[in-house]
Amino acid sequence: MFLLYLDDAGSVGSVTEKNFVLSGICLFERQVYHLNKALDELACEIHPSEPSKLEFHGSHIHAGKGFWRSIKDKNRRRTIIRHALAKCRVLQGNWALFGVVVEKANVSPEDPIEFAFEQICTRFDAFLRREYRNGNNQRGLMILDKSTRETRLQTLATDFRTDGHRYGVLRNLADVPMFVDSEATRLIQFADLVSYALWQNYERGDGEFFNVISDSFDREGGVVHGLLHRHSERSECSCPYCETR
Ligand SMILES: [Zn+2]
Repeated sequence: MFLLYLDDAGSVGSVTEKNFVLSGICLFERQVYHLNKALDELACEIHPSEPSKLEFHGSHIHAGKGFWRSIKDKNRRRTIIRHALAKCRVLQGNWALFGVVVEKANVSPEDPIEFAFEQICTRFDAFLRREYRNGNNQRGLMILDKSTRETRLQTLATDFRTDGHRYGVLRNLADVPMFVDSEATRLIQFADLVSYALWQNYERGDGEFFNVISDSFDREGGVVHGLLHRHSERSECSCPYCETR
């Protein structure tokens, strides 16, 4: 089975923030162990006495919150985010990042969370359909952080179950999305880092984290399918999504 771990960034209610981000990593079930292990090892280097207590959350690391306050040097904290993101390179076989960055005003009056969720679902389904065409008959499952601030995501996952026709085209998902605690799995923490990297790039114009992963979004034949950047000034953007369209 292919698992897609997802997390969000940006607050839909905030008028000072332009974007909403939903993104994460899709990998084959046997690869979960390897990414977990690589991130555990990094946690061990940073906090040898209690690595399991250390959670990777982009905004906490960057701002120096909680444990991260003990690392005074902001550049070192930024390096940690880059190193953690680069851990996806340990993965073998077929894996990819998926992300939707939506300028809230551009989809108004539509709910940006609903828009992003639907886009992620259909893009993940398209990935699974392509695998199927290539003889890899695997199902997919989406896994989200249960403590997400945007509780709307949880409602959408419930609708997913009761309002099947809306997602009627999704034939390759094994079950409704699952919610897990980010403490329990490093993979949700990795999804948080991916969303943070997208957020910093598109909302703040800081591409240092995004540059580590920008070539890893699902693509086929030179066209990026795993990333969607919905905004009003496409001609002025050279991100991997806008560039290939
Ligand atoms: Zn773009």
